[in-house]
Amino acid sequence: MVSVSSGAMAVRMRHFENPFDDYSVKSAESVITRNKISSNSSIVTELESKWAKTIRKFQNLDFRDTSVYTGTSGVALLKLLKNPNDESNLMEIKELLDLKHLKHRRHTFLCGDAGPLAIGAVVCNKLGETDEMKHLIQKLLRMQGDAVNPSSGLPDEYLYGRAGYLFALLYVNKHIEPPPVPSNTIRQVIEAILTSGKEGARSGSFECPLMYQWHDSYYLGAAHGVSGIMYLLLQAKEFLTDTEINSLIKPTIDYMARLRFRSGNYPSSLGSDNDKYIQWCHGAPGFVYLFSIAHKVFGDSKYLKLALEAGEVIWKRGLVKKGYSICHGVSGNAYCFLELYQTTKDEKHLYRAIKFAEWCINYTKDHEEHSPDRPLSLFEGIAGPMYLLLDIQKPMEAKFPGFTL
Ligand SMILES: [Zn+2]
Repeated sequence: MVSVSSGAMAVRMRHFENPFDDYSVKSAESVITRNKISSNSSIVTELESKWAKTIRKFQNLDFRDTSVYTGTSGVALLKLLKNPNDESNLMEIKELLDLKHLKHRRHTFLCGDAGPLAIGAVVCNKLGETDEMKHLIQKLLRMQGDAVNPSSGLPDEYLYGRAGYLFALLYVNKHIEPPPVPSNTIRQVIEAILTSGKEGARSGSFECPLMYQWHDSYYLGAAHGVSGIMYLLLQAKEFLTDTEINSLIKPTIDYMARLRFRSGNYPSSLGSDNDKYIQWCHGAPGFVYLFSIAHKVFGDSKYLKLALEAGEVIWKRGLVKKGYSICHGVSGNAYCFLELYQTTKDEKHLYRAIKFAEWCINYTKDHEEHSPDRPLSLFEGIAGPMYLLLDIQKPMEAKFPGFTL
């Protein structure tokens, strides 16, 4: 999440030197065979024992937190990835979502009740429990009030705001056929995000057409900032007009590209000259996703170049000392290379993703300076690297959980 510290901390190295040889046909031989991860790679041979060890640790989960980000629904998402169609597994997942005790307080997929409700609807659909599925979707849709009202005070960012609610709606529609969330609801959330962004840009006199604030800062990264919001909007581009895509979103992306540090990294917020974050929530990793999807939408090679350049920074500085987490650690950074591999089909990026995943396979203290507050969770704890290790086995299908549809 935020954790933006400053002062003396900024001068010390926040990452380990990358000890791996960079990609060459020769260096890749040991881990990639015909575009697939070699069966003798440690991330294949150790997968099952790693899974068994990880799952044992989940015996005493704290059900006071049911979020995807730090709570039981993150473990549910991991178990859904591991075995998406097994009935007894799906029943266990429902228990992890703890659907009867949701308080409908927060809106988003990652940090709010929209996550367990959306996952619950998908699981009920798989189980043939149609009435319960409809009931959960109704509950999800009843949360829309603040999300469709641009003046409600709800932020727009991904972890706590409209973009995170939008993801929950899109997630349900992607995984349930026919899509149960009405298009006009999705459109209303998008309109509120655009209205709020136009107002943010106007009131701050920005040269770009959309701008968003969270906690009095103009954050730029994936979790709290503009890059995350733009990425979500482009994933929902079928609900946007050409004018919105070309006259609002594109110039906002171009504006952010100009904010790049000389190192190739990106600031965590506007006006910050602190070039220190290389993690999904802040800095270059979030921009990989944004520029990759911009390349797909606009067909302009400048975005691909920007995505690849952001990838270089992550390869150089992405083995961060904060640890292995999906949100602000190495497993989250590994996903950037999977994104670039899917975009380019260039084996180099698969190789780099494998190397970062290998780094994650043994979480020893040597690779982590601070233990996470929620050590079992999906976004801060061990469920995150486990998710990566499962997901990377099919690298063309891997998706950053709760962020890429
Ligand atoms: Zn984070």
